[in-house]
Amino acid sequence: MKARWPSSRSILRQRSAVMRLPRRDPGGAGQTSATRTVGESMLAAVSDPLAAELRDARARTLLLVQDLDEGQWMGPRLPIVNPLLWEVGHLGWFQEFWTLRHARGRPPLLPDGDALYDSAKVAHDTRWDLPLLTRPAVLAYLERVLGAALETLGTAPERAAYFHRLALFHEDMHDEAFTYTRQTLGYPAPAFPAGRPAPGGGPLPGDVEVPGGRFLLGATHDEPFVFDNEKWAHPVEVAPFRIARAPVTNEQFAAFVEDGGYRQERHWSAAGWRWRAETGAKHPAYWHPAAGGRWLVRHFAELSPLGAHQPVIHVCWFEADAYCRWAERRLPTEAEWELAAATPHKRRFPWGDDPPDEERANLDGRAGGPVEVGCHPAGDSAAGCRQMLGNVWEWTASDFQPYPGFVADPYKEYSLPWFATLHKVLRGGCWATRGRLLRNTWRNFYPPDRRDVLAGFRTCSPDTGPA
Ligand code: FE
Repeated sequence: MKARWPSSRSILRQRSAVMRLPRRDPGGAGQTSATRTVGESMLAAVSDPLAAELRDARARTLLLVQDLDEGQWMGPRLPIVNPLLWEVGHLGWFQEFWTLRHARGRPPLLPDGDALYDSAKVAHDTRWDLPLLTRPAVLAYLERVLGAALETLGTAPERAAYFHRLALFHEDMHDEAFTYTRQTLGYPAPAFPAGRPAPGGGPLPGDVEVPGGRFLLGATHDEPFVFDNEKWAHPVEVAPFRIARAPVTNEQFAAFVEDGGYRQERHWSAAGWRWRAETGAKHPAYWHPAAGGRWLVRHFAELSPLGAHQPVIHVCWFEADAYCRWAERRLPTEAEWELAAATPHKRRFPWGDDPPDEERANLDGRAGGPVEVGCHPAGDSAAGCRQMLGNVWEWTASDFQPYPGFVADPYKEYSLPWFATLHKVLRGGCWATRGRLLRNTWRNFYPPDRRDVLAGFRTCSPDTGPA
């Protein structure tokens, strides 16, 4: 199928944060010093919440890959996916590089690890051709690295804790990538541990009014861990605006499709119309027209009727933008999104400062996919917006740009290279995102033509907001 996927050239700029690796810490590597006995280290690791999170992330990684066979671990050579055999090894390499080699000055465990698994050095389309570790060997390597990392947890130098968290969140992001890779390739749905049925449900039409004003956009210094692109909170002026209480649903998006939205150039930006012509897109990526004007949708390996009140997902920014033009709406800016989530007192999460749970948000794969947009009323923001965290990532109108005074963190390739090429900001996380990764200030970013990622959008009234 021609050009359903982005060109190979664009891929280098396309892979999201999960593909990028830090290279150097200005603070200097080589400090060492585990000073506890092995027994003390083991006791500390058992009781350390971070140790539990690292084990949990590894269990999630294994859940996402271990049921797949050797052929699926290699998979087709596509620009938007990695061979799982490579990606699994990359996870271990990343953890070893930052927590053991960089932070503690240890020698490498693999003689050729950097040449095989450093995503900043290994070109994407060569990853299928490398002399990678075998599946049993790479799993043994992961276990060895995690064991060594846990053994050092809580020992000097103090700054090493940062790199353990970096490795944790890096693994969480790759786990989301494993999830959408399984969707892209039509593999079976992952066997996520099921949660309770999501509370609430149905559609949730209408807008809420958000008073504008001076707002602090970005992360504050009391966050225990932030990525560089969130730094730091800075004042922005936001005009009053009206924003939808919920993301756009499949039923709403189907009305755009059925009204000929993909055939009428007037609904599309120039770049969006080029994308549509190149891809031949006629509807969202995994929709299939069925008898009687119904739609089926592929969820992993299964086709099922499209859920009317679930949010539309797997649409690219161009499709979201075209829908908005057709519906006489607009995408929120990221400042508007964050204000609608955090108002009035810079809440850490839409509902307040307590971490996400099953009542408030669809996260961590618990529901196995998106839930209806009316679910999770307990997670509403003070402004009255629902599901601002979880369910689907939400495209915003904003280009991915640094905040004032931006300074790259040790993981320089995380944000810095991507400001120069067009990426759009997404907010809020999705059903597969790990809850521990998210907060209102968290910024994701993808090129506007990515439809494989777990993204939808919500809209604003065009009569309000930026002039
Ligand atoms: Fe990575």
